Amino acid sequence: MARYTGPVCKLCRREGTKLFLKGTRCLTEKCAIERRAYAPGQHGQSTGRRRKASEYAKQLREKQKVKRIYGMSERQFRSVFERVLREPGVTGEALLVALESRLDNLVYRMGFGASRRDARQLVRHRHIQVNGRTVDVPSYRVRIGEEVRVAEGSRELLRVRAALEQFARTQPPAWISVDPEKAAGRMTERPTRDAIPIAAQEQLIVELYSK
Ligand code: SF4
Repeated sequence: MARYTGPVCKLCRREGTKLFLKGTRCLTEKCAIERRAYAPGQHGQSTGRRRKASEYAKQLREKQKVKRIYGMSERQFRSVFERVLREPGVTGEALLVALESRLDNLVYRMGFGASRRDARQLVRHRHIQVNGRTVDVPSYRVRIGEEVRVAEGSRELLRVRAALEQFARTQPPAWISVDPEKAAGRMTERPTRDAIPIAAQEQLIVELYSK
């Protein structure tokens, strides 16, 4: 299935939680989930007749939630899962580490893009370099120590400046170092599960794909 290109707030309302897909707007009272905390659609507000969610439904919702947070298609998400299955360690944690190591995610985490969607566009439009070379593939897996930076000619882009200003008010994960002046950063170590700021039960995704 292709990547979703419709209204992103609908995805948060469908999952019943903030997925932070719209950058700074997500932190304001304009957030759709603050104003309409029910599922979208004709039956979104009806609650009484809902049956208890099955195990499968819970696993499916968790997978959809994480897939949507990282803005991936089913095919891409599944392929990352298949890859981490071959890695040693806990599969659920390895899945999150692989997702966090994507170039578009790191551009977002380093504060160069206001959201993952924005970061993905910066990568696609060739504004991002890894170790001095332009990389325009959002799924590129960044290795520990590689330098991710905004290309010199793109540093004054208003969207990059605005994202960095917002970033200055937040605390980046401890496994990332960022030099906002140079618009450059690195992943300094492999993140542990505790250090990945995603509220997800990744084990449910492993169970779903292991059926
Ligand atoms: Fe989700 Fe952000 Fe829209 Fe709120 S503003 S519903 S967090 S995408």
